Amino acid sequence: MATLNPALQPPALIVLGPGALATAQRVKALYAGAQIHALQERAQGDVAFSELGDHLRELYRRGTPLIALCAAGIVIRCLAPLLANKGIEPPVLALAEDGSAVVPLLGGLTGVNVMAREIGAALGIAPAITTSGELRFGTCLLNPPEGYALSSLAQGKRFVSDLLAGDTTRIDGDAPWLDNVDLPRDAAASHAIRVSPQAWDGNPAHLVIHPRSVVACATDSPALLAEYVRDALKANGVAEQALAALVAPVARMGDAAFEQAAEALGVPLRFVDGDLFDALKLPEPHRRIDAEHGITLGVALEPLDVGALGRARGRLTVLGLGPGRADLLTPMARAALDDATDIVGYATYVEMAGPLRPGQVRHATDNREELQRARHAFELASEGRRVAVVSSGDPGVFAMAAAVLEALEGAQDPLWRRVDLQIVPGVSAALATAAQAGAPLGHDFCMLSLSDNLKPWAVIEKRLHHAALADLVMAFYNPISRARPWQLDRALEIVRAVRAPETRVVLGRDVGRPGETLRATTLGALQSSDVDMRTMVIVGSSATRGFGREIGDGGAAGLLEWVYTPRWYGERG
Ligand code: SAH
Repeated sequence: MATLNPALQPPALIVLGPGALATAQRVKALYAGAQIHALQERAQGDVAFSELGDHLRELYRRGTPLIALCAAGIVIRCLAPLLANKGIEPPVLALAEDGSAVVPLLGGLTGVNVMAREIGAALGIAPAITTSGELRFGTCLLNPPEGYALSSLAQGKRFVSDLLAGDTTRIDGDAPWLDNVDLPRDAAASHAIRVSPQAWDGNPAHLVIHPRSVVACATDSPALLAEYVRDALKANGVAEQALAALVAPVARMGDAAFEQAAEALGVPLRFVDGDLFDALKLPEPHRRIDAEHGITLGVALEPLDVGALGRARGRLTVLGLGPGRADLLTPMARAALDDATDIVGYATYVEMAGPLRPGQVRHATDNREELQRARHAFELASEGRRVAVVSSGDPGVFAMAAAVLEALEGAQDPLWRRVDLQIVPGVSAALATAAQAGAPLGHDFCMLSLSDNLKPWAVIEKRLHHAALADLVMAFYNPISRARPWQLDRALEIVRAVRAPETRVVLGRDVGRPGETLRATTLGALQSSDVDMRTMVIVGSSATRGFGREIGDGGAAGLLEWVYTPRWYGERG
């Protein structure tokens, strides 16, 4: 595996045709979590896209490293409108589809040359490095490794120019990554690369790199906490870029002021019990500084392993995967999946959530005990893990979100309430099916589960009867199963007693999944043998209607009719 800057997302490999797939696969194997994005109908990848320019710009805006297996010029033209801000650019590389050339284009400060070298090494080719400082010194001095931060980019550029113009430098402090770098070293030089948590003193001959080796501990959360921390650092000559974490008492987990302060400072928030500073057990040597406003600074010399400093506030995100296909998974749900350390859910859905990063733990269960699964998710999250609980469709529609809230409401463990809980919606089966068929849910409708596992059958009958009387379009979830063989026929009987046999019905099976099928039929013709547990049944209202599509315009699932429920009701006008 290659050493992608851990602050970056896994790269996207952009493929425009089948000729590039072999090379793309080889590079994909280098980067955990990398995905092949293939032009629809030209090649098969992990993610399909239909318009190259839009897709590249969207990925770039999201900060995704891009490896485009196409001409450099195409990539440049697509991204040109976005290039004003140099500060945030992800690495962008062009890679010849036969693997014969790799050209780093953008992202000098986010490690594009490192990636170009890695890809070059894997493919046995020389990367087209064009950065002068890097050519001379074999590394980019302005892109220190994880755990270190450059004090000033402008100053860094001036410093590198000086060295390129012939100045020599000494190294003050510990910079192990420079050991094998071919720098013009001289212990007596006036130029110096200084590795220290102390702030840059403004000396133009110094390139200052800060190890993230400082923590700020605070027991209270005043509104000005971030300012107080900045003041404390400044008063003691410590660089803000050296700050590795803000530390607070466990009892303050979930306190918004602490979270805002950590966000303003751009550092993770960690929690410990007892005396904060002592409990952290910072590595030696370190200094303790008791600053104003009750803030204690801990200043070590080497980058701190933030994951070992107390613990994080756990996160639990309940998300919907949509019906199945990747492009119906919302970006918000995708982000929560990517961020998670643990994925919890019914085995089929955990599988559907993939591909996962190495290191992401799957907790796939076969049991239908949703409450138990929800409790397990809280146990993990209250240990500080970031847990994604996955459902198909929408998590709030006959799925995990309600079980998670039920578990929380009945929680004994006070730490469960401190977990950062979020529910992320998804495209529910009724919506995905309706869209394929046309717009059967175009007017008032209801969603009903025909499962009597968690509610008495009598309630289902009553609701069906009233929904039918109310002339609502009905979407049936869980219409039938081996354990519930007769219920659907009984349900149809109830609806037929009120609604005409010619009422439109849409059946969507495995919608948005391989082998998806869609059928339009009528209430009179519908038989329970047409339906299984992977089917969504939409029963129209008296107003739901249909008309023929152009031949061959049946959509992916082959429906020959558009079915819709008009927006108006009764006489039009
Ligand atoms: N939370 C899910 C529903 C879970 S209940 C959602 O919002 O979609 C499970 C039922 O949903 C199934 O019995 C079936 O009726 C329906 N369903 C789920 N996925 C489906 C799909 N891809 N195609 C058709 N029906 C589906």
